[in-house]
Amino acid sequence: VKERGKDNFQFYQRYIRTEHDDKLLMEKRLRLAAERNDFQLYYQPQIDLREKKVIGMEALLRWNDKELGTISPTKFIPLAEETGLIIAIGDWVLEEACAQAKAWFDQGHRLRIGINISPIQFQRPDFVNKVKHILEKTGLPASLLDLEITENVLLYNREECFKTLERLKQCGITISIDDFGTGYSSLSYLRRFPIDTLKIDQSFIREVLENSNDQAIVTSIIQLAHNMNLRVIAEGVETTAMVLFLNDRDCDEMQGYLYSKPLPAEVVTTFIQQTNPE
Ligand code: C2E
Ligand code: CA
Ligand code: CA
Ligand code: CA
Repeated sequence: VKERGKDNFQFYQRYIRTEHDDKLLMEKRLRLAAERNDFQLYYQPQIDLREKKVIGMEALLRWNDKELGTISPTKFIPLAEETGLIIAIGDWVLEEACAQAKAWFDQGHRLRIGINISPIQFQRPDFVNKVKHILEKTGLPASLLDLEITENVLLYNREECFKTLERLKQCGITISIDDFGTGYSSLSYLRRFPIDTLKIDQSFIREVLENSNDQAIVTSIIQLAHNMNLRVIAEGVETTAMVLFLNDRDCDEMQGYLYSKPLPAEVVTTFIQQTNPE
């Protein structure tokens, strides 16, 4: 028994060391990728439910590392946040996505671009100036830029947050609350902060047709948004039955695999030419 215990302990130690090594390797590779901007952006269409046409695109980051293969943003974004690399990576995302939206704009497609902003980026004192600078540099109209933040961002430094949002708003930029309903905030911020859109988290949409609690939540979020003059987007829409449900409740927009997975920019250009004939 004693021997076995010792073996187990050694095994455990080795296991921990390996996990730690994996993380160090990933950090090393991520640092390299951040230096070289070795990422891609994919774009997922956002569809106006009434008009049934694409009105926006959400930019989603992709990392395909030579050594580590394809790594999900749900894995490397937290690491980027922990290491501070999210600042450099986030700058690249902002500029790349705005430049892409400007290229579509120049081709005659007025598509809003949704960009995910980490709390760490948002809380930097130079954030607003950075965004303004990127708009100037790329020439994208500010009204086409939508920044997606999570409600947890609004938990800390409320005064600073409020000022940042006001300044962004004054430029004509819009703000969406991502993963709405999953954070720790109380609803009181909705009254106070200048936001434009609520994005209903996909965890509420996934079983909305089978689960009456999810139905109540989704219906209430749509009503709440409309009563406060906010727009509302449903994420993770995968079936036409979901579309009918959302249509019945007067949801404004949807996004999900039913319509399209996130796509590389070249494919999007072809895609919008087919679906949004001018
Ligand atoms: P998110 O912002 O909530 O993005 C939605 C995620 O759901 C995306 O995963 C998207 O590919 C996926 N999705 C879209 N439609 C469907 C659907 O119909 N069904 C299902 N099951 N999933 C769907 P992805 O691209 O893996 O991104 C995961 C998360 O990583 C994002 O969640 C966001 O929090 C973060 N992220 C991605 N790109 C960036 C970025 O550029 N900056 C920052 N800070 N975070 C990012
Ligand atoms: Ca998002
Ligand atoms: Ca989301
Ligand atoms: Ca999410």
